[in-house]
Amino acid sequence: MKRLLSLLCLSPLFAGCSSLPETAQSNIADTILINGQIYTMEADATWVEAVAIRDGKYIDVGSNNDIQKWVGSSTEVINLDGAFAMPGINDAHIHPIMGGVKTLFECNFSFTATPEDIARRLAECTNATPQGEWLRGGQFGSGFFEKHSLESPLRFLDVISTEHPIFLNDDSGHNAWVNSAALKIAGINKETENPDGGTIVRDENGNPNGVLLENAARLFDSIIPEVTQEQMKAAFLHSMRMANSYGITGLKDAGGLESAPVILHALDQENLLTLHAAACIRTPYGSRDTLLDYDSIVAERSKYQTPNVHVNFVKLFLDGVPTPARTAAMVHPYLPDEKHGDKYTGFMHLKSELLQKDVIELDRLGFTIKIHAAGDNSTRTALDAIEAARIANGTKLRRHEIAHAGYIDPADLPRFAELNAVADFSPYLWHPSPIIEAIYTALGEERGEKYWPTRDLLDSGAHILAGSDWPAAVPDANPWVGIEASVTRADPRGLSEGILWPEQAISVSEALEIYTMGGARALLLEEVTGSVAVGKFADLIVLDRNLLEIPPYDIGDSTVLHTFFKGKKTPTNTTN
Ligand SMILES: [Zn+2]
Repeated sequence: MKRLLSLLCLSPLFAGCSSLPETAQSNIADTILINGQIYTMEADATWVEAVAIRDGKYIDVGSNNDIQKWVGSSTEVINLDGAFAMPGINDAHIHPIMGGVKTLFECNFSFTATPEDIARRLAECTNATPQGEWLRGGQFGSGFFEKHSLESPLRFLDVISTEHPIFLNDDSGHNAWVNSAALKIAGINKETENPDGGTIVRDENGNPNGVLLENAARLFDSIIPEVTQEQMKAAFLHSMRMANSYGITGLKDAGGLESAPVILHALDQENLLTLHAAACIRTPYGSRDTLLDYDSIVAERSKYQTPNVHVNFVKLFLDGVPTPARTAAMVHPYLPDEKHGDKYTGFMHLKSELLQKDVIELDRLGFTIKIHAAGDNSTRTALDAIEAARIANGTKLRRHEIAHAGYIDPADLPRFAELNAVADFSPYLWHPSPIIEAIYTALGEERGEKYWPTRDLLDSGAHILAGSDWPAAVPDANPWVGIEASVTRADPRGLSEGILWPEQAISVSEALEIYTMGGARALLLEEVTGSVAVGKFADLIVLDRNLLEIPPYDIGDSTVLHTFFKGKKTPTNTTN
């Protein structure tokens, strides 16, 4: 029927043709925005006043005068009244479903919560939870047990409830704290051996003390009842609205949930996405000595790709975190402690040889790989794997990412640019904070401070991407505190004093490039978003301040007034 109408309309005599919508004509815009200070991220026209949008894309970019010609009777004209606007933010490392599930369905307390705060909050949650049901929650700070010497972490939770199995995560998401009811259900007791790559922390008698590191925490993955798909969809929508309200128009789910591609695919089918979404296909967490199942990864990619959902990504986990848990793999030993002695350098889940085989094959199959490597030794091993893929496949096309490559041995730094490897950084941590304090207790202050060599990487010609990593370590996905911190290297929230490795500070324009184009590149969408240019999607945000004119210390307080995704305003958030 559609085809018939369009054919009939070729005849100017046919009466119905005059009702052809004006916007379908090629010289009329759906929307124009005028009188703005629009920072485009394009080298040839950094600042423009106005843009014209049709079918979700920019059809013109320039001065108010240039844009007037696109106005028709049906064009919506938005006067920005001198406001600052820029391309939408792309958060290239975030866990939106996990974050939404935590917010909507778990017992939340802040990273800085004291034992008293946690006890009070858990008591509220247990009162609202039927007996026998699991209570999940978090997140306690990475240095919590160093800071607060609880006589027994296990008994602390048992006092709160023996009727509810309790499972709490720390702020890194890698480690857990449970009560006796939870241990009982999981069948973990004095006789249980530590799993590969994990530790069941014990008291002086050898009994589990309630703290579980790395793979020991994963023992509960198949035991705690799963969140339903409907809950996960609600969780993603919640996170998406929060992200939109902060000006995020693109995000990459950094893996962690097997079902992320499924959920995103379903939401896009229902036309509910108001951002570009990419999802990493998850691979098994923890130690593994067999190669990945490449056929099933390829099948997953073709099954879940939709116009707004991109699944050309795979996440691999190489190690843990450089906190007192000492689970990141370092080149030099951690500070000595009773449990690990003075030669402990952490561990890696995968042997270098196996990782190289996986990376070579996934690279050959066209995937971009995100490798979790939090220590300088695991970062080196990840670079070795990327180098092996470069040699085996003869191309540097795929921009593989090393997530949390915060500690980089100086000898390895130039390899990022040489290998076209991308450092996946969390600028939300580029400043003194409780997590940095916790890292100092494991690495020492002098070494601990040499975290996130941003300036050096940019100067070496390497690409960087930024991600909030929410819900790990940060209370929300607010990118503005991260942008501020990458410039000031101080705590935007003013809770921790000092400046972290000030020589590594970058400029505001460099930070904005990382958050817009850097993220677009990570989503493989640099041709269609990340800057304001004709032919790209109109993913544009309007702020209450001009970021290039204010003191950097005010960037973190920015408010996003409007977020446009593909030329349409996203719903205003009312939930955060
Ligand atoms: Zn992460």
